Order: sequence, then C-alpha cells, then structure tokens
Amino acid sequence: MPESYHKFHRHPAKPVRTLEDAANDEQIIVVRCGLCRRQINYLATDMVQVLNPARPVDAPHFACSRCGTADYMSVKVKTPSAGDFGHLTIRRLLRIRSVSEWGNRLLGDAPDPGKTPKGL
Ligand SMILES: [Zn+2]
Repeated sequence: MPESYHKFHRHPAKPVRTLEDAANDEQIIVVRCGLCRRQINYLATDMVQVLNPARPVDAPHFACSRCGTADYMSVKVKTPSAGDFGHLTIRRLLRIRSVSEWGNRLLGDAPDPGKTPKGL
C-alpha cells in the first residue's frame, strides 16, 4: 500500500529514506511499541532480506508481536556508536525458512510440468 507511506513523508524537500538506504549505511532500526513499551533493535541489513527494501525506513514494518497491533509502533533509525558494539542487544535474522508448496497431482504425474520424478 504505497499510499499509506505518504504520511511518513514529512517534508517535500527531504527525500524519503528507505530501508535500503539504512542498510547501506549499516544502521540500526529501533522499533518500539508505545502500548506495551516493548523495544527491539534490528539491523537494517537483516530487515532488507525479509521486507521490501524500498519501504520508508521509519514506517512501522510490522505489528507488535505482543499486542498484535501496529497502531502504537514507532520506528527510529540510529547509527551504532563504538560503545554499542558488544553491548547493544540486536534481534538478528537467524534463518529464513522456506515455505512448502503443496498441490494435487495425479499419481504417476510429475509435480512440475516438464520434470520427470526420480526413479521413473
Ligand atoms: Zn506492544
């Protein structure tokens, strides 16, 4: 929904910074829920792997996992300082799980057209 991004475009002279910009600058995305006051730090370089890199960096990226709403989410971007290394807890992207796709096929037919099942 690109339209909803416009409210985060605060000044016409100031171009929208995207998630990709923040990743290129190796910045930290600080996501805070104002309702439960949960705050989580992410690396922009992790987030671009799972979210659209063209998203405005300060638009809420997802709902709070505790409250289930994005209404109170605020996003800040910070550049790590030397003192952050070894001290600041970051929620890292550990693994991207692939999604299984299932579909009905006739017994003996290949799952993908053009591919022959092994062993036949
Ligand atoms: Zn919350």
